[in-house]
Amino acid sequence: MKDICKDCGKCCIETEMLLSSYDIDRIKNDNPKHLKIANFARKTEEGFNQLINVKGYCVFFDSDVKLCTIYDVRPQGCRFYPLIYDSDKKHCIFDEECPKPKLLYPDKEIAANTCKEIKIFLENQILFAKLE
Ligand code: SF4
Ligand code: SF4
Repeated sequence: MKDICKDCGKCCIETEMLLSSYDIDRIKNDNPKHLKIANFARKTEEGFNQLINVKGYCVFFDSDVKLCTIYDVRPQGCRFYPLIYDSDKKHCIFDEECPKPKLLYPDKEIAANTCKEIKIFLENQILFAKLE
């Protein structure tokens, strides 16, 4: 986990993070055989896959040490974070829950390029949700 995120984990509380099918495969393949998709993913009413919470935290968050237990294979949305897409404003913003967005995205150009990736990611999730 990045040092900036040490002792935080705010973004792992009551997560609503979407999961692509690639995210699901990567998590599944990197974890013990007994880990079933239903153990960490649920379908939303809109047909998206989303991380499950347990006792108020993402199922993969260790609240004792405040660490993501699947950091190397964490979902793409967790990698984009704290940059998120605001569908009302129709542009990317830093999630106000994160206390250190500027430390994680010090470069405006990188943030702008990541925003383009976020839009493509979301468009693909909408497409797949319609197809399923
Ligand atoms: S991304 Fe932000 S909210 Fe999440 S752990 Fe790091 S500093 Fe905390
Ligand atoms: S997968 Fe890891 S980084 Fe993402 S919400 Fe869960 S614990 Fe946090």
